Amino acid sequence: MRKPITTLSRPSIFSFMILGLIIGFTPRTLLAQSGGPIHPYQAAYDVQHIELDMEVFPSDSAIAAIVTTTAIQQIASDTWRMALSPRFEIQAVEWQGQPLAWHRPHLAEPEVHERFIHLTFPGTLQPGEEVKVSISYQGKPRPAVQAPWDGGFVWAETPSGDPWIGVACQGDGAWLWWPNKDHPSDEPDNGVMIHYTVPAGLTAVSNGVLRETQTDGDRTRWSWEVLNPINSYSITLNAAPYIELQDSVQSVDGSTIPLHFWVLPEFEEKGRERFPQFKEQLVWFEELLGPYPFRNEKYGVVHAPFLGMEHQTIIAYGPRFEDNNLFGRAVGFDDLHHHELAHEWWGNLLTVWDWRDFWIHEGFGTYMQTLYTEDVLGQAAADSLMGLMRMRIVSNDELVPDAFQTTKQKYGSGRGGDIYYKGAWTLHMLRCLLGEDAFSSFMRELLYPTQAAAEALDGSQTRFASTQDVMRVAQSYTQRDLGPFFELFLKHSELPELVYEVEGRSLTLYWANVPEGIRFSMPVEVSVNGEIRVVEVGVQNPDPTGPTGEVVVELPRRVQEITLDPHGWLLRNTIGYGESLDLNP
Ligand SMILES: [Zn+2]
Repeated sequence: MRKPITTLSRPSIFSFMILGLIIGFTPRTLLAQSGGPIHPYQAAYDVQHIELDMEVFPSDSAIAAIVTTTAIQQIASDTWRMALSPRFEIQAVEWQGQPLAWHRPHLAEPEVHERFIHLTFPGTLQPGEEVKVSISYQGKPRPAVQAPWDGGFVWAETPSGDPWIGVACQGDGAWLWWPNKDHPSDEPDNGVMIHYTVPAGLTAVSNGVLRETQTDGDRTRWSWEVLNPINSYSITLNAAPYIELQDSVQSVDGSTIPLHFWVLPEFEEKGRERFPQFKEQLVWFEELLGPYPFRNEKYGVVHAPFLGMEHQTIIAYGPRFEDNNLFGRAVGFDDLHHHELAHEWWGNLLTVWDWRDFWIHEGFGTYMQTLYTEDVLGQAAADSLMGLMRMRIVSNDELVPDAFQTTKQKYGSGRGGDIYYKGAWTLHMLRCLLGEDAFSSFMRELLYPTQAAAEALDGSQTRFASTQDVMRVAQSYTQRDLGPFFELFLKHSELPELVYEVEGRSLTLYWANVPEGIRFSMPVEVSVNGEIRVVEVGVQNPDPTGPTGEVVVELPRRVQEITLDPHGWLLRNTIGYGESLDLNP
């Protein structure tokens, strides 16, 4: 006899959920896109260095720039594909000091391919050849529709009426404002030199280390150097009459990490109040995941005119200066800063080479908030946060498709929430399967496979990864075959249902709603009269003569309480967790 679920052991987790659905980090539909299947004209070259030299004119909402890309040719080719918004007028393309021909290819789906330009070299570039190309252009970059989701330039004003400029382009691609290869699989091995010339009185803040400032009349040129490889969407510009707050922290490797926080003058006091929490979170991350990967540059946070973005070494931080930014309820800490800081490891140190694996950035990034909550605020608060995340799972498609994906395909089609929340829940279950210590080692090994990688600061600490790496490293920590687990949660939209039947003194459990052919099985905690036991539950075998994953738990003579999954480890198709079976309906 199947009994209905009528009560929940932790009804409190639902109290704030409705609000959480309305407010918070809801994915949006993107207008533009980045990445996708790589074209041979993109794969032909390996970017080594980028120099971006840009004049910024806030009064016209315009920029003029020259971007020099140095690359090593990988395979023979007479053409490079790059991407730059058609909003700009391209004034010159040069190679070895000579003008280089370029055109916008006529491609199907112009809205998909509007970004591409083809540079045509006079002859075939040989493998191993160093190639240096400069593109000069000017115009008005697309203003952001809804940064950070529908990105572009944000030309805002400070409360005093001064320019306050920011850029966010993760979803749409950095081609919105500067020419680049537009593929996550390549980062400049030898870093980036960035120069911004802005009206004097504004501070232009960017990634990496400040090398020099030069004021000439009413314009100031700010030069920043990025020493490590960096995602193109991470390269950023912030300009305002900022106040700079400084501090430092000792890294777990013994070195000193410079900390900087640029805030609008009107928010200086709030910034000073907020800064210690940033530092405390950085210490927490280092203890969990290993050293901050860019400690030879800085850890920076800049007050941005939009919610936030994980720009490497210079996190964009929205204007609230409060805790509780992402979930529409009091989680008890600055979750926005925590999330963006998580990306310094999950996204900037470890980077997916195709957006189909976007969940690695966002799923790990989001699950860090759970681990932090558990450490700092306790188990009940962490359970509650997982409950909020569960409410946001859509699961109407596979989390990791086979095909290469653009950002828009993976994030911007209304399914984006799953890369955060289903990703986080998948890791939560994996933690249950591996155990606490092994899960910790698994995360560290993904980020820093060797001690040498953890110590390196020459760029070799950064690496690319895919879901394959996650599965391989996780599998190395357990005898259990993780194949069916990953298959179900990463490659299918179905969420399993834990079916239970109570008859006499028997509780029967099995998994349903599992696609045929997946021999899915999970340990399930069952509390009977307050005593918890763990049983391995599988799917029923459609062949009644074969072995079945169904399990029968013998019940005591007097049963006051039965609760399934009392600690909420399992992602199931029923929302909520810790069902107490109603024994006397
Ligand atoms: Zn994120």
